[in-house]
Parts: sequence; structure tokens; C-alpha cells
Amino acid sequence: MADVSSSDLHGQDGNASGPARVLVDLDAIAANVSALCRRVGDTAVLAVVKADAYGHGLVPSARAALGGGATWLGTAQIGEALALRAAGVDAPLLAWLYAPGAPFRQAVEADIDLGVSAPWALVEIAEAAAHAGRPARIHLKIDTGLARNGAFGAGVDELIEAAARTQDGGRVRVVGIMSHFARADEPGEPSIRGQQDRFEAVYEQAQRAGLGIQIRHLANSAAVLTNPSASYDLVRPGLAIYGLSPVPQLGTPEDFGLRPAMRVAVDVALVKDIPGGQGVSYGHTYTTVGATRVVLLPIGYADGVPRGASNCAPVSLDGRHLRISGRVCMDQLVVDVGDLPVRPGDEAILFGDAGRGEPTAQEWADATGTISYEIVTRMSSRLPRSYAGAAAWSL
Ligand SMILES: *Cc1c(COP(=O)(O)O)cnc(C)c1O
Repeated sequence: MADVSSSDLHGQDGNASGPARVLVDLDAIAANVSALCRRVGDTAVLAVVKADAYGHGLVPSARAALGGGATWLGTAQIGEALALRAAGVDAPLLAWLYAPGAPFRQAVEADIDLGVSAPWALVEIAEAAAHAGRPARIHLKIDTGLARNGAFGAGVDELIEAAARTQDGGRVRVVGIMSHFARADEPGEPSIRGQQDRFEAVYEQAQRAGLGIQIRHLANSAAVLTNPSASYDLVRPGLAIYGLSPVPQLGTPEDFGLRPAMRVAVDVALVKDIPGGQGVSYGHTYTTVGATRVVLLPIGYADGVPRGASNCAPVSLDGRHLRISGRVCMDQLVVDVGDLPVRPGDEAILFGDAGRGEPTAQEWADATGTISYEIVTRMSSRLPRSYAGAAAWSL
């Protein structure tokens, strides 16, 4: 394992100048992807790097995932995929979420595959392909029961018919078919098998219509970790590549052979001794019991720390797990450290790797009533990202 002590990380990208930072271990991302590749055997892995790689940083995370054995990258928005191309990433890319007027021509010219849920998109993409002078590569996106994106019910028949016609016209090549689970994090729940049955039936229908689809993909992280029957030709893990568990009720990252890649660290700005009975931070929602020491951490909700973490989320200082005291403010928060000998400049960890004795993103999620996905993704761009691990040196 790479040494990711913060002294290695500080300033490595020349950008870690603020009092707080997101430290990303790219070796962890590469190792997590390798672990997922081993798990799915011959099935290819598409690493999902949408939303700035779940807050970990788009391009470095994408490169680390490719280094770990992913052969595809996936984003929600076309702009995210274009950013990867602009950075020189030449791996197969898939983007699946857009609205009318999206930059389809740029996508086709940049060789970005597109998920397609409706005939209107096929029309715009075919027109873009005509302008680009090359066929667009598309994946039919089927709603097999999530009732979110994807063609549903009679819309599936319309989409298949339109895709067959457009493919015959030479403007698109239908290379894939995809769907997304509603409840993959509840292994054995009947809708899971139901969605797979529907997915397989629609695939057969599309093949009968002459589409010649080669790539079937359905599995997210939870399915990769709990449901080998959903692997098909390609899997699309997101959260697991960042070393977090999509099924915390079933196992920790460590249980699945994963290591969290993100740590959030902040330097202590101020230390002071205050008396018992003193209210702390806005609204005085925390009151000291006896005389104690409090530290000020210059990180707040403007940095992505949920205000809901007030008085509940953990912070570690000097290896000790403490709790936020009082309200999280826009730029700062306070922690009652008792008699700990903390000094200005000491580094506090909000969350990181339990294997290093740090609080976890999952604990933050539990404390604030959300999921670890949201905790890592919401860390704001005000926090500079610093990269460590062998993969960082080749950025
Ligand atoms: C976000 C997303 C994924 C990855 O989901 P995880 O639960 O993070 O593994 C896969 N497929 C689609 C369509 C997605 O939107």
C-alpha cells in the first residue's frame, strides 16, 4: 500500500494551499478496480467517473481506474466525457444523461458512445452523426423497473424500431444495451431478478429486430459485489471503485477487499480553553459540561460538510475520535477535545480509512441520515484535491 501520510500529499499538485483538503489515494482506486476486475472474471469493467469521479477528481481518478484494469469509462453528462477526451484519455467512453440540444456532434466527433432512451434523442444524434460524417455509437437504455431514465413499456418497442431504422440508414451503430437496478443493494429482493428477466427479454427482442448488439450491461457496484448473474458483458461500478461499500448493512469496504480512496483533512486554526456551561457556535446547541479545550477547524458547509453533521459527525485528532460540537458554520466548525494536547496546525481528519483508524464516510453518512455516495460527492471544489500513490506521479 502506498504511504499516504499527509506530508507526502501536501502541495504535490501545487494547489493544496488552503487550510483544508481532500486527499485522494490513486493507488487505492487502481487496486479497487483490480479487485472488481478479478471478481467479474472475463467481464469488462466500465469505471463510472461522473460527478467529478464522485468528488475524487475526474481525470486523475479516470487514469487510475484505467491503470487498475478498467477498459471503459462512464459519465452521466456529455461534458464530463468531453473533459476526459480533452485531457487526452482515449479509452472507450459512454455518457447517458442529457436533454435536447446537447452537444451530440462534439460527442460523436470525440468518439463518445451515447446511451439512448427515446426516439427524439436518436433523431438528434443521427443528425449530429451526419454533420460529423461518421456513425454514432449508441447503447439502448432500457427502463426495466427503476422508472427513471430509459425507455419503458411501449417506449421500448418504439425505440427498438427507430434504432433499427436509423442503423439501416447508416447514421448510428447500436453497440450496446443497458439498464440500471432499483434495489441492487438488497440481494434477493424479487425486483432484481425481475429487472434481469426484462433486460434479457428486451435484448432478445432487439436482436430479433436485427440490431446486432454486442454489449449488455446492467450491474452497478452493489450488483458487482453481490450478484454475479448480473455481470453480462460489462459492469458499471461507481462507488466501489472509490473504496466505499454500496451495501453497508452487508459489509464494510474491507470485507469486500476495497480501500477508501478519499480522506478529508483540515488544519487546526485555533485552540482555546473555555469554562463549563459555555454555549458553543451559533445557537449554542452545544454547551460544555466542565472546563474544557475547544479547537476551531476551518472547514464548513461551503466546503461540503453537511450542516446536519452538527453535534453528531466524528472527527479524529491525534488518533482520537471526537464529535463536532455545536453547529457547522459556513467556513468553520468547533470540536470539544477535552484535555487533548492539540496545537494550531495539527491535522484533523473528518473521514478516511478505518484501516488507518480514521472515521469513515459511512459513519458520516449514518450520522447525517444519508449515504456515503453523497458524503464524498458533496465535498466542494473549494477543497483542493491532492493526489498520492504511484499513479499520481504520472499525472
Ligand atoms: C451512477 C451509475 C452507476 C454506478 O452506480 P454505483 O452504485 O455507484 O456503482 C452505474 N450505472 C448508471 C446508469 C449510473 O447512473
